[in-house]
Amino acid sequence: MNKSLSPDERADLVMQQMTLDEKMNFVHGTGWNGLQENAVIPKGSLGGAGYVEGVPRLGIPGINMADSAVGVRLAAQGSHYATLLPSVLGAACSWDKDALFLFGDVIGRELRDTGYNMSIGGGVDITREPRNGRNFEYAGEDPVLAGTMVGEIARGVQSNQVMGDIKHYAFNDQETGRTIVNAEISQRAARESDLLAFQIAIGLAHPAGVMCSYNKDTITPPGNTDWSCENDYLLNQVLKKDFDFKGFVLSDWGGTHSTVHAALAGLDQEQPGSRYFGDPLKQAVQDGQVPMARLNDMVHRVLRSMFANGVIDNPPVTKVVNPFRGRDDAEHIADESIVLLKNADHILPLDAASIQSIAVIGSHADVGILSGGGSAQVDSPGGNAIAPNTPPHWGEPVYFPSVPLRQIRLHVPNAKVEFNEGTDVAAAAQLAASSQIAIVFANQWMSEGMDRPTLALPDNQDALVDAVVKANPHTIVVLETGGPVTMPWVDSVPAIVEAWYPGIGGAQALADILFGEVDPSARLAVTFPKDDNQLPHPQVPGMNLLESEPHTPHAHHREELPPFDADYNISGVRVGYKWFESKQETPLFPFGFGLSYTSYDFSGLTVDSGSRSVTFTVHNTGQRAGTEVAQVYAVLPKSTGESSFKRLVAWDRVPLAAGESKTVTLQLDPLYLSIFDVSQNRFTLAPGDYEILAGSSSADTPLSATLHVTQ
Ligand code: BGC
Repeated sequence: MNKSLSPDERADLVMQQMTLDEKMNFVHGTGWNGLQENAVIPKGSLGGAGYVEGVPRLGIPGINMADSAVGVRLAAQGSHYATLLPSVLGAACSWDKDALFLFGDVIGRELRDTGYNMSIGGGVDITREPRNGRNFEYAGEDPVLAGTMVGEIARGVQSNQVMGDIKHYAFNDQETGRTIVNAEISQRAARESDLLAFQIAIGLAHPAGVMCSYNKDTITPPGNTDWSCENDYLLNQVLKKDFDFKGFVLSDWGGTHSTVHAALAGLDQEQPGSRYFGDPLKQAVQDGQVPMARLNDMVHRVLRSMFANGVIDNPPVTKVVNPFRGRDDAEHIADESIVLLKNADHILPLDAASIQSIAVIGSHADVGILSGGGSAQVDSPGGNAIAPNTPPHWGEPVYFPSVPLRQIRLHVPNAKVEFNEGTDVAAAAQLAASSQIAIVFANQWMSEGMDRPTLALPDNQDALVDAVVKANPHTIVVLETGGPVTMPWVDSVPAIVEAWYPGIGGAQALADILFGEVDPSARLAVTFPKDDNQLPHPQVPGMNLLESEPHTPHAHHREELPPFDADYNISGVRVGYKWFESKQETPLFPFGFGLSYTSYDFSGLTVDSGSRSVTFTVHNTGQRAGTEVAQVYAVLPKSTGESSFKRLVAWDRVPLAAGESKTVTLQLDPLYLSIFDVSQNRFTLAPGDYEILAGSSSADTPLSATLHVTQ
């Protein structure tokens, strides 16, 4: 076929030659490949989460889909290796587009090397619910930051001629009752928050797929309640019309609920089976209940995505995944993901030359680092580092062999570095008391299918931290968490480092930060609340309905529960820092916050209202090089009704040598300053004065100037 034709033209040419049965191949998957016991893996399938049969007669390959939120899933079943990247939330704390592109590049490269031609990662559900078990797969609470970061991931994936995906569309903001919960939100708030994140990511990456979510939504107007995978407003009106999405909508696994309704509402492909979009859809097309033109549109969307991403012209060629390159890339991203939250009296970086002894405590830091669970779970090389001989099970934490204890020892070869597992608090405190420095690791394991009932660290770890810092005031807490946690011990612990789930290069990155070889440059992509009562929902909606084991990864299977609502109108557009600010609540650590080993000063903000650009100077006032994440926020005019909080509108990572100053000019995207006008169904830039703020976090914006917007 003539390769100079557009993907649309090529898709149509192929489709004209297809029989009805061949077309039907593209609108559903072939079952839970390899995920269920005794599942028969169809010919051509690699046994990933999804497989769509091709049409070999016309040279169209099947689509092999792999979960790959933080690395390729299920690699072990093909004896493959897959790189575990830092959590997406951690990576988003880099605020570094190049790092996120690299993140996607690693995934795309390894998918390609193992024969897959589609990623079904790309989660961009924003952190409305900080106890959501999947927040580690997503990019934080701000729609502009999250949309940009996840868009870069999908771009990176697709740069390898592997199809990318953005999910879970939309409002899958909690796992508790995820298959029964109904998310309620006003249209304006929806468009300016969660849907804006999707809009930005989709606009940047033009992904092949968008996966619709399990939950129901009531978006007002129109105000009807529908499953996300058969929601005309979300799929037809917003995604396909307003966002101009040209790819295909695939349902989350088991998230299809009807044939005619879903097909007409905009769902293009049922996954993983053919219950609704197999014979019933064929029948509905033959009966005229679903027009043939609509079936053709579904097939066209799949085929044009395959042509547009090169998976037909340049299919994957399997080769041995390069674990060394993957590890180096993962470490680089981890360097920029680890957030320094507290550093009293400059206890960090540790001075290797003057250290005789260190107590390393807790969280299996002697064998590895923690990873997130669920369909984002990557297989650990050599098996789970805490149980290498037991096959990993859904619902159990998996540790990877990137070993903090070993990396710390490498930095202080002459010191005594001892480990205590931290389960016996008294024994841990005793080791801490007899050491010069104590580094206590605390974790919060998270997974798809569960939320945490509270923000508190589980498993008595607060008591562990308390006891250790009491025994030794020179204590550093390292957190390996899926999202924000509370810290009742925050005032007594001098140094706190948030490492998230840091990936296969995590231990090296962490040790380099602790000993100052890398300057911490990450800034929080989520607010850390002081306690659950500060949240719009002090308890996760529906959590009270789950009678036993509410926070196990099986909670979402409780379909016997009565359907319930998650009222997102309480916070509306005010997600995360916007909520805290409008409520005049002070969080534990604000959005955008993170320390460095040097210090920065901001000056000279000017705003050019004509070109909508802002200029200011960042000065490294300290003794060593570092990278500041300069952040620009806007407070909208009163007339918009959104003047009680700021919103992020621009940022830049600014590398600075000791003493160096740089003047930065950033362009303000009018979309990020706009409000959604429901009556006109479009974003509008309200006339008036916008307060433009610049600084180092959402709570520290020393510079302010005015942007005038005229009609
Ligand atoms: C998850 C999706 C995932 C799919 C396939 C679902 O349970 O919600 O994120 O892609 O399974 O594994």
